[in-house]
Amino acid sequence: MDLFVYIFSLIFGAIVGSFLNVCIYRIPANISLWWPPSTCPKCKTKIKFYDNIPVLSYLILRGKCRNCKTKISLQYPVIEALTSILTLFVVYIMGLTYWTAVALLVTYCLIILSVIDFKLYIIPDRFSIGLTVLGLIVFFINPVFQGNLTIRFIQCFASGAVAFFGLWGMAVLCSFIFKKEAMGGGDIKLIAAVGVLTGFSGVISTLIISSFSALVYYAVLFILKKNPQNKTIPFGPFISIGLFINILFPNNLLLLY
Ligand SMILES: [Zn+2]
Repeated sequence: MDLFVYIFSLIFGAIVGSFLNVCIYRIPANISLWWPPSTCPKCKTKIKFYDNIPVLSYLILRGKCRNCKTKISLQYPVIEALTSILTLFVVYIMGLTYWTAVALLVTYCLIILSVIDFKLYIIPDRFSIGLTVLGLIVFFINPVFQGNLTIRFIQCFASGAVAFFGLWGMAVLCSFIFKKEAMGGGDIKLIAAVGVLTGFSGVISTLIISSFSALVYYAVLFILKKNPQNKTIPFGPFISIGLFINILFPNNLLLLY
């Protein structure tokens, strides 16, 4: 594909990333995404458009507000750069199809919900349930489901239902045995989204990838002696990694094995 498409993907991703930052900050705080315009959290000065250029503005301003010199969180340029790179990656792997547009939308939702879950230990329903509804609507262009329309819809719906109730059953069982909540409701709802978007094999693959990546993450924290102060483990970011990989590389279970 041409270079133009790749450069466009990078720039488009950076601009979307800038909007994802707004979502990450405003959705848990229940502030409208469209109004008021972005201001410095300290001095409340409206951020000028030329100070709002993804990544570049942060570098030019050396990570400080132009007016009051308060430090700007590193999260802003990191999310912008990450969104930019992942957009390019998705377009590079999948090409330009209708399913690529769905994959990008899913990726953007996963970035927002991962950061929110990581910081606040919640997965807002609008993302877990929203992604499930999205998966059910776009089943007919989903490459993992094969057969006529009815069969494909049944596959899609059943994958989501089996994933949801399977994990819910396991969570109930675990909380009964260990007398403590093993998995949050938000995680279980997100697994339903994994089912309708990537099929049953995608669910198994996602569970393997997410458990493994969570294990590696906490092992590293343990080695660095940075034990998480909060005993709650955010699992949403790890499910997101699994879902992202399965959207990009469907039916990878055998490969993984
Ligand atoms: Zn300021």
